Order: sequence, then C-alpha cells, then structure tokens
Amino acid sequence: MKIETLAIHAGREPIHLATTFERGADGTYPHGYFYSRSGNPNRSALERAVAALEGGREAVAFASGSAATLAVFTLAAAGGRVVCSSDCYHGTAKQLREILPRWGGTAEFVDTTDLDGVRRALEPGATLLWVETPSNPLLRVSDLAALAGLAHERGALLGCDNTFASPVLQQPFALGADLVMHSTTKYLGGHSDVLGGIVVVREASAELEGLRHFQGTGGGVPSPFDCWLLLRSLPTLPLRVRQQSANALAVARFLAADRRVERVHYPGLEQHPGHALAARQMRGGFGAVVSFQVPGGAPEALAVTSRVRLFTRATSLGGIESLIEHRASMEGPLSQTPPNLIRVSVGLENVDDLIADLSRALAA
Ligand SMILES: *Cc1c(COP(=O)(O)O)cnc(C)c1O
Repeated sequence: MKIETLAIHAGREPIHLATTFERGADGTYPHGYFYSRSGNPNRSALERAVAALEGGREAVAFASGSAATLAVFTLAAAGGRVVCSSDCYHGTAKQLREILPRWGGTAEFVDTTDLDGVRRALEPGATLLWVETPSNPLLRVSDLAALAGLAHERGALLGCDNTFASPVLQQPFALGADLVMHSTTKYLGGHSDVLGGIVVVREASAELEGLRHFQGTGGGVPSPFDCWLLLRSLPTLPLRVRQQSANALAVARFLAADRRVERVHYPGLEQHPGHALAARQMRGGFGAVVSFQVPGGAPEALAVTSRVRLFTRATSLGGIESLIEHRASMEGPLSQTPPNLIRVSVGLENVDDLIADLSRALAA
C-alpha cells in the first residue's frame, strides 16, 4: 500500500483512558493489556501505524523525541561508543555529552557529510552511528546508504533521526538504516499541540527488546490522549508535508535571490552542496525547514525576527503554522550555530503571504 493509504488506514482506536485492565478469573489478561505504562490500545495503534509508514518491523513510542533518543542511547551505554552528526538537534548533543558518559558510554561528533571523517570516527569500536539528515539547523544532507555501509562494515548500527524529512519524503530503512526516530512533536503531530517521540526498528532484534524494556521500565511513555492526537494527525501527513515543502522551496528561492540575505541553507536549492544527494535519497520534496543568515550578526538577525507579523516567533517546527526563530540564542551558550542564523518552519499559509512577511521583515 502507498503512504497516503497507510496514513489513513494504518491505525484508528477510540481513547482508552484506563490505567489498568481487568484480569480473567483464571489469572489471564483477556484484553491483552494489564497496566497502561506497559501498553495500552492507543499506544499499540500508534506504534503499528508509524511502523507501517516507515516500513519497519515495530515502533516504540515515548513521551517526547528526547525520551526516544535517550532510549536509543541506552542501547549504546556501558562501553558503547556513539558517533553522531556534528550538526544535530542541540538536545541530542546534550544527551550524548552529559548523560551517556555517566552511563559508561562515549560519544564523538563528526560531519557526517564527510565519509572519510566518518570512517575514521567509527574505527575505534563504534557501536552506533546516529545521523540527522537533513540536519538541524544547517540542513546538511548525509548519504544514508553510504553511511549504512560504513557502519555495518564496523559492526555498528545506523540510526537516523528522520524528524525533518518525515516518512513521506525519506525512508531510511530502504537505504539501510537499522533504527529510525522521530520527534512526533513535529510533522507527525503537525499541529503544535502534542509532545512525543518514537523509535522504529527494522527487524526483531536485541535492540527492539532493549527499547521495549526501557519504555516499560523507564516509564517515559505517551498518554492515550497523546497517541490519539497523533493518530488523528497521520491521515493528513502526506498532504501537509508535501505542501509545506513546496512552500518552503518558494521561500528559499525568494531568500536566495534577495540581496539582503547573506546565505540560505535549503537542500531543495540547486546551489546547496547536498542537493543532488537529497534529490536521490528523498522524494516529493526537501522538507519545510529553511535556515538563512543575514548581514550584521545576532542583533540584525533578532531585529528581522522582531519585524514579522505572520510568522510566529517561537521554537519548534512541523506545525501547520509558520514559525521563525533566532536559533543561536535559543540553543544557549554551547550553541555552534552561526549567530546571524534565522530558522523558519514553513507552514500551510499561502506562500505569497509568507514571502511578503519575510520581505517586510528584511527591510530595515
Ligand atoms: C525537536 C527535535 C528533537 C527532540 O524532540 P522533542 O519532542 O522536543 O523532545 C529531536 N530531533 C530533532 C531533529 C528535533 O527537531
């Protein structure tokens, strides 16, 4: 079945708020569930649906994207070594720097667009290669098929944070990934009203068991209502993502042609260094996040965000409404993001209105 059909039919379930499920007189569990942290019908439906959209074996849902990445990193703890894209979600880098070492693991950050660099970084016994493509916030594009080859040669797993692309535009399992993760807060939710995360695994494995164990024992699980909200959002996912990507391409082209803009980062632009690769490994669009740099440093970048009327000044991405943010000041003191960089999440508004708003904001 195609993704539009799966998005509508892969999972539907009324909300079950019960935290506990009655046992049979014989001690069995006729409902298939016994306690909501370990499993409930809404979470099962969501997990089945997202696994189907990604073409994976099974999915494990969490209360946030961050809880999902942390679950993956527990697989690499105690002697494991994680190699991670240097341009990545700042919270992911923080977990690898501040939490993984306490659990006995180590992490190294490399530019995953540089295959020789990745090969070297994997050399001393890496157990997991964690890649974001397109990456946050610089929209770098990494070659998933080549990285899968390098990771597997070294006996490491390849995990992909597929949040920016969504399963509509990119299917990492088809390119050799072992694990696919989403902050479902973003495109899968799509309405900026639910926080969540999910990890999909390619096949039944020790990793799947480990994730299930961490989900039930760690307890960072989504509520039945969160799962229901996400399932409500999935049917429109393909339409939303494709239209938002088309809007983003128009916004990126406008910015690239405007002399008040220093540099635009968007893989859909022909001049982007990862454009040819993105065109090969993505389909139907290049995503709906665009970053750009303006002359004048952080003060001018902040000034541009102060002048918008239609874009909302807020962090996050993937919702139906357009957001704009000065990224470095949001990431905090350890940020590696250029101080004059503005990130926009392009929504479903009419793109002419969005472009007019940015044009007005750029004009001092
Ligand atoms: C938002 C985000 C996360 C973290 O997800 P939360 O739901 O905010 O915890 C991880 N990776 C990427 C690429 C993100 O955009």
